[in-house]
Amino acid sequence: MDASTLDQQDALASFRTRFHMPRTGGSEQYYFCGNSLGLMPKDARNQVEEVLAQWSAEGVEAHFKGHSQWMPYHALVREDLALLVGAEPIEVVAMNSLTVNLHLLMASFYRPQGRRRKILLEARAFPSDRHAVASQVLWHGGDPNVDLIEIAPEPGADLIDPDALDAAINAHGEEIALVLLPGVQYVTGQAFDIARHTRIAHQVGATVGFDLAHAVGNLPLKLHEAGPDFAVWCSYKYLNSGPGAVAGAFVHSRHAHANLPRLAGWWGHDEASRFKMGPEFVPTPGADGWQLSNPPILALAPLRASLPIFKAATMDALRRKSVQLTGYLERRLTERLGDQLSIVTPGDPSQRGCQLSIRLRQGRELGQQLYRTLLEQGVICDWREPDILRASPAPLYNRFADCDGLVDALATELERHR
Ligand SMILES: *Cc1c(COP(=O)(O)O)cnc(C)c1O
Repeated sequence: MDASTLDQQDALASFRTRFHMPRTGGSEQYYFCGNSLGLMPKDARNQVEEVLAQWSAEGVEAHFKGHSQWMPYHALVREDLALLVGAEPIEVVAMNSLTVNLHLLMASFYRPQGRRRKILLEARAFPSDRHAVASQVLWHGGDPNVDLIEIAPEPGADLIDPDALDAAINAHGEEIALVLLPGVQYVTGQAFDIARHTRIAHQVGATVGFDLAHAVGNLPLKLHEAGPDFAVWCSYKYLNSGPGAVAGAFVHSRHAHANLPRLAGWWGHDEASRFKMGPEFVPTPGADGWQLSNPPILALAPLRASLPIFKAATMDALRRKSVQLTGYLERRLTERLGDQLSIVTPGDPSQRGCQLSIRLRQGRELGQQLYRTLLEQGVICDWREPDILRASPAPLYNRFADCDGLVDALATELERHR
């Protein structure tokens, strides 16, 4: 079927109108960068302006007045967040940024003891995740050269074999304190089976955390059922909540009342006695107990525009379209340009989200040049060193016709460089 037929049959097509589409030279862009910064929901402006209006009209009283008062403001997004990641409401909280949340949760779930001191992660983890785990190891007096087990793909391969990953967890069993894995790998777009690797890690007695930066809003998640101890994500990629938006965290309900050691702050203290201002820290149950500060209301406001869109569309319907949309882009790329590029992302839809990671056979210089040329033409992908062009059709606002736009632009440029 051609793109226009597929777009006509798309039950989610109208969701595109809820977003501002950036333009280049007067035309709407072909925007494939939702994996980096999701587009702005039109309602985001209203939500931010509501906070500004409250501030100007009520001052400090806005903490306690009106239907979106600030004191429980972070709780206004809780139900939608829980729905989005398949969690119980007590298991999720919107707070801080991704790397901060990763540190806060490692403070509780990376507790090296006796022989069990190591963190197992992927060798090509996002630099911030690598810095976070290495600095945690150092913080505990360990040595990252000894205490990090970094799982790389087989030589010459791009993807991690899930069986090899499980085997590595089993092989290092008693030495592993924490397993930290991505939901979707940011360069290759490879998706990991959260339930499966969680089960193996728990069998060897380790705690497990997931970085869902590229998975949340991309794949349907069932975090409660899958059972990791914690997960973290950012809200500015597929969640469309704006630059530096307030991030998310999940702590499994088995820990909700456990009073684990943590880096504490007053906003994590029991709500009922927070303003008694006593010196003793009593954690509020669940993920909320990891909050430090009173939340940045202005940065939270766009989540109230973006999360309801996911609820209205539903992750299951988005995923159905996403499989179709990414499959369409993959087919068009390989049929038309298969001799000039390869796709690094797994071909099996169950092992990927919407992102396709493209490598040009002619090499990285041309790839980087094409990335810039496309950008100037309003075809927005992104470039990841050393040699990957990432394109992520987002089912909320991308059309099948956008995929044609990308393939045509790539084909024209490649033709010029033959
Ligand atoms: C986007 C991303 C980050 C960014 O971290 P911030 O703390 O939000 O700046 C970290 N890790 C991964 C895997 C990412 O994809």
